[in-house]
Amino acid sequence: MPAIDVAGEFETIERLFRPLAHPEWGRGLKDDVGVLPSRPGFDLILTKDAIVEGVHFLPDDPLDLVARKLLRVNLSDLAAKGAEPFGYLLACHWSGRCGWPEREAFAEGLRQDQESFGVHLIGGDTVNTPGPASFSATLLGWAPKGRAVSRAGARPGDLVLVTGTIGDGALGLKAVQGRLGLEPERLEALADRYRLPQPRLEMREAILAHASAAADVSDGLLADAARIAEASDVGLSIDLGRLPLSLAATAWLETRVDPEASRVMLATGGDDYEVVLTCPPGGEAALKRHADQHHLRLTALGRVTATSGLQVVLNGGPVEVERLGWRHDASPTVSKPG
Ligand code: ADP
Ligand code: MG
Repeated sequence: MPAIDVAGEFETIERLFRPLAHPEWGRGLKDDVGVLPSRPGFDLILTKDAIVEGVHFLPDDPLDLVARKLLRVNLSDLAAKGAEPFGYLLACHWSGRCGWPEREAFAEGLRQDQESFGVHLIGGDTVNTPGPASFSATLLGWAPKGRAVSRAGARPGDLVLVTGTIGDGALGLKAVQGRLGLEPERLEALADRYRLPQPRLEMREAILAHASAAADVSDGLLADAARIAEASDVGLSIDLGRLPLSLAATAWLETRVDPEASRVMLATGGDDYEVVLTCPPGGEAALKRHADQHHLRLTALGRVTATSGLQVVLNGGPVEVERLGWRHDASPTVSKPG
């Protein structure tokens, strides 16, 4: 869109974003478009997430971390589909607080994670806004034709597994808000998890090979697991006693008087960016081996059942859960992207 170049849009693209461009497909960010050749034998997998200042990040969050989180929440979606990311389109809506140093920080965050995850910038748009800053990215990845894992493939008898640890994102948000009384190093570990999620791309090949269904855990383990159940027209039974917890989350749990409600909070809090997946019983060993090789936890939490709905249990008894996870239409508070 044409606009008066009040805050150096041209310089922003030329000096900060051009070095990040895909060597061929971005056309040096000098053309009207990026151009992507089709890749025989593969499907193009796309996902988009937007983040808004005051809603998904704090007004004083450093913009390099904001940029990295933007890429990572999107990369997490691709990981859950077994897709291999290669590029992205980026929209920047800069607010008044985004001067040159802030834009440089943003571009530096992108650069770091481009290197970590093997993606390049293919195009985008850059505008100024009188409102709060916001950013969105459309991530692009490849999956072998017809093989991208969906939420709809779970079958009764399959196992339910989850990568990494659950609950650190939700506790991390409390930590950055100063609402958690734990030792400084625990608070730091949780805040890191909240600020800089780790998309589980290392599980990509094993997910493609063995998962019957998978979803990114962004809104809360139970909410995202329930979406698999719904899409697959099956039920899931999840044992909260098996929830994989970090040392910091374990320390937090020990301070609580109501372990059941606290485990529910961890399983519904969101912002974990792990992958919840189902697999036929025969696939578990290979998935575990793959996770071990990448020093990643992979925990069996339950089973897929024929009766629809989500059953949550703890110590052999049923647990009533009112709210499965983060609601997208919830009123704005600093929370979670995606
Ligand atoms: P238009 O006038 O069509 O909006 P622009 O001048 O905004 O075009 O963009 C020129 C080129 O710079 C395009 O290739 C566009 O994809 C790229 N570009 C603009 N903003 C960004 C951005 N935030 N990230 C990546 N590429 C961008
Ligand atoms: Mg433009």
